[in-house]
Amino acid sequence: MTTQQTVEHKYVYDFAEGNKDLKDLLGGKGANLAEMTRLGLPVPPGFTITTEACKAYLETGAEPAGLADQIAAHLAALEREMGRRLGDPDDPLLVSVRSGAKFSMPGMMETVLNVGLNDRSVEGLARQAGGSTDPATSGGSSAPAGGGDRFAWDSYRRLIQMFGKTVCEVPGEEFEHALDEAKRARGTSDDLDLDATDLRGLVDAYKKIFREHTGREFPQDPRVQLDLAVRAVFESWNAERAVVYRRQERIPADLGTAVNVVAMVFGNLGPDSGTGVAFTRDPASGAQGIYGDYLANAQGEDVVAGIRNTVPLQELARIDKDSYDELLDYMARLERHYRDLCDIEFTIERGKLWMLQTRVGKRTAAAAFVIAGQLVDEGLIDLDEALHRVNGAQLAQLMFPRFQLDHDIQPVATGIGASPGAAVGKVVFTSARAVELAAQGEAVILVRRETNPDDLNGMIAAQGILTSRGGKTSHAAVVARGMGKTCVSGADELDIDVPKRRFAVAGRTVTEGDVVSIDGTTGKVYLGEVPVSPSEVVRYFEGEVDPASTDDALVVAVHRIMSHADAHRRLAVRTNADTAADAARARRFGAEGIGLCRTEHMFLGDRRELVERLILAREAGEREKALAALLPLQRADFVDLFREMDGLPITVRLIDPPLHEFLPPLEQLAVDVAVAQERGEDVAKEEALLAAVRRMHEENPMLGLRGVRLGLVIPGLFAMQVRAIVEAAVESAKGGGDPKPEIMVPLVGAVQELETVRAEAERIIAEVTRERAVDVLIGTMIEVPRAALTAGQIAEAAEFFSFGTNDLTQMGWGFSRDDVEGAFFWRYLELGIFGISPFESIDADGIGRLVRIATEEGRAARPGLKIGICGEHGGDPESVHFFHAVGLDYVSCSPFRVPVARLEAGRAAVVTTGSDSR
Ligand code: ADP
Ligand code: MG
Ligand code: MG
Repeated sequence: MTTQQTVEHKYVYDFAEGNKDLKDLLGGKGANLAEMTRLGLPVPPGFTITTEACKAYLETGAEPAGLADQIAAHLAALEREMGRRLGDPDDPLLVSVRSGAKFSMPGMMETVLNVGLNDRSVEGLARQAGGSTDPATSGGSSAPAGGGDRFAWDSYRRLIQMFGKTVCEVPGEEFEHALDEAKRARGTSDDLDLDATDLRGLVDAYKKIFREHTGREFPQDPRVQLDLAVRAVFESWNAERAVVYRRQERIPADLGTAVNVVAMVFGNLGPDSGTGVAFTRDPASGAQGIYGDYLANAQGEDVVAGIRNTVPLQELARIDKDSYDELLDYMARLERHYRDLCDIEFTIERGKLWMLQTRVGKRTAAAAFVIAGQLVDEGLIDLDEALHRVNGAQLAQLMFPRFQLDHDIQPVATGIGASPGAAVGKVVFTSARAVELAAQGEAVILVRRETNPDDLNGMIAAQGILTSRGGKTSHAAVVARGMGKTCVSGADELDIDVPKRRFAVAGRTVTEGDVVSIDGTTGKVYLGEVPVSPSEVVRYFEGEVDPASTDDALVVAVHRIMSHADAHRRLAVRTNADTAADAARARRFGAEGIGLCRTEHMFLGDRRELVERLILAREAGEREKALAALLPLQRADFVDLFREMDGLPITVRLIDPPLHEFLPPLEQLAVDVAVAQERGEDVAKEEALLAAVRRMHEENPMLGLRGVRLGLVIPGLFAMQVRAIVEAAVESAKGGGDPKPEIMVPLVGAVQELETVRAEAERIIAEVTRERAVDVLIGTMIEVPRAALTAGQIAEAAEFFSFGTNDLTQMGWGFSRDDVEGAFFWRYLELGIFGISPFESIDADGIGRLVRIATEEGRAARPGLKIGICGEHGGDPESVHFFHAVGLDYVSCSPFRVPVARLEAGRAAVVTTGSDSR
């Protein structure tokens, strides 16, 4: 650092200088090209311009000092190595200019191939390539005469097209149209039927398009082409889509992108050339064996563009056995080296194989588990590493029921898998109709162009939501995920006509009432009812599939990895369950207790009547009668729960919601009473109810009379609940059970509130447990920001804390969840204000800070204070890592999320030096 003035900063690395661990500096593509070069694989020579150069350019608006010279020096070395000069009129070296950030990012500039071609070097290239028709050169016998000409002009038109589009922002359709026009003139639909003359004409047309859109000629100077392309890659880092993507994915904005300059190799030199992509294992199932596609006589981008049909990679064994064998050998080496599934891009130029890219490949959720298991068996990784090769989101995906697609059912459209699940139902086009049919017990799929807040009721009523517009952050997607409802968004093949209540797709018309099936994981849409089968993984968690004897590779892998997670996690995992059935299922799924049992539901159904009596009671006697009637009902519920969770803790939350939630809605009641009065009926009871509802009406009920406040205002209410819990515990203990009740007081903001409730509860506990001792803990939810900030005081009166992160998020942000998710969250997500809803994943910086403060101060005041979290965040992978880091004792989540939380708690506890999971 002290010699900074004298030593020029190094901005350019030859492939031979880098390696795979330099992704920050060289980007993913550059680091891996360097790694393959180091391994001795045939990578065309080239160099990488670092992310630091990009950052410097973006900061100052100019290439940093020394960069131009360093590029010149590396280019000169490349020219020496290749024995050709960039754009040389007689025998040109051509290069590709490829962006490559640490994480690949939609919206950034991609690649320009064939840089170095101009009006003169195209002729040189043609002459050189024409050599293929010379019988002395191997493999070229089938190339047509004049093939060199055709190839050179095809390469030139590709350069103008890619350069125009990505470097100079010429609309891509313009080139597409000109190409279509040329093909039409030839009477063909195949690019390969265009001959050299056609392509020459096309180059002229392209140049004209370029001139019209940019106001200048297509640059003829090869070095200018190179510099402009490099600069365009730098600038694409700040393209709007890239910026928003980074915000959403929480990718730091200051990483910058690297640029790779690679000597061109040509897959479009004739039938003995070609290009392909390959995976070292099946990325869909994880099955062993190579998978890929090959396209003869083509350049790389043709494979992705899908303009011609590719053949399965195995065909290459027939077309060019030597290259095929060589490729397989490299793939095996790469897999051993990266210790993971790799995907690769390759090109064959006249029988010579070139490796153009590799990286650890993307895969489905099922393949992730299966491959991790295989790699352990193959001795390439250990179980710690395997645990990090999978994640909770993947496990969650594997737990959804899935469509049985064995009967060759084809989707009619594919949108974005916006919220996972498999939903089948009758098509409806309006929210009102969705509500109406759902009320008749019909399963419906709400189909809209896009949804808005008016559709909320319909979305609630529907099994699934299907839209033709919008992506993962659209209103439909955000709200559906919040509800856990299946959603496919942006299925733009659907032509929806809401007034006529129908949509057209794939030449068919679907009208209201027709059945469709939508897959929120894959985004696929099917006509008719596709049968749904339960997930094998869920059957395993349910105990219906024995991992020791099944031959289902996925179940075996899941079992192995889950066992490892369980053996190492420090967080316990509990469940949120209110009923014995939920508790039992959660226990099968591995729950180690109940972290949140809501007592509200125990006030619903036929018990509503009793609650009304309680609320309407004018004097103590009436109220006590109502409470006395509720007591045995509550007690029986708890007895059931203690039985299902025998030996494990159950945290019971005393009643939380505002009482008027148990009464009929004001408007309806007012109308009923008015009508009855008109008829002269006796409405004394209804009037009393109406008066009570009016009295209890609140402007902001979530901030009103609820939680501990109810307990302090309605005499006897909490006391009845405490008695029911403790009596049930005593009854269970007497029956030989081992109940572990924990009484939780909701919505506490001040220690005095808790002390008051506690004093009464302790009296009742002492009284009830006189005949039979049972340990009962008393603690509180931390869900009001003030509670978090005075946790030291509150801990004096609490034997445990449980973070209610839903309310903590609402109150911490000042968001009313029901209002904001449907109203404007999509906009916040679109703007990247948050990458994910703070109700889905804990906002670590803000709400998480409250959690940290409360944990530290609570434990300081009462060492050994038991602390958990029971908000929905308890089942969210990222949040689980956060709670692990903060040092909580457990997370609690819905039964179906229990396995996800177990897995993520294990991943949080096991540290590896291994691969970057992104
Ligand atoms: P992406 O990241 O979109 O895959 P790439 O930089 O990998 O973009 O390039 C796009 C296509 O061009 C790929 O098929 C790649 O294999 C091909 N390609 C890139 N550089 C060269 C080269 N030097 N010679 C031949 N083909 C190339
Ligand atoms: Mg690529
Ligand atoms: Mg709450």
